[in-house]
Amino acid sequence: MKNCLFCKIANKKIPAGIIYEDDKVTAFTDIKPVAPIHLLIIPKVHIPSVDHLGIKDQELIGELFLVAQKLARKYGIDKTGYRLVFNVGKDAGQTVDHLHLHLIGGKKLPWA
Ligand code: AMP
Ligand code: ZN
Repeated sequence: MKNCLFCKIANKKIPAGIIYEDDKVTAFTDIKPVAPIHLLIIPKVHIPSVDHLGIKDQELIGELFLVAQKLARKYGIDKTGYRLVFNVGKDAGQTVDHLHLHLIGGKKLPWA
């Protein structure tokens, strides 16, 4: 998708703190972290949000979670815990219309 910020990051058209990459998934540090560890895990393919997922994306979604698990271990927050979040649409405050899984941890997280 031409004008999508996260497509540009996945395609290395603009710089980001990329910390993981494979053939289908990219992960990078959030530019405005809300906790000591705040990573974004995205599919390389453009999907606007969870609301746009279909059956064909089942495996890809599983991969996003497995990358999150791997990165939580790598960053040493698997034992202390972490939060995984998909914001979907306006009321949830989704600001970038390219599917992204937030991995947040490294401190006790407030709920709501
Ligand atoms: P959301 O509000 O769920 O759409 O989350 C979008 C996230 O992307 C926010 O946490 C932003 O801080 C983050 N973000 C926006 N632009 C960039 C960027 N260029 N590099 C890294 N993270 C970004
Ligand atoms: Zn995109």
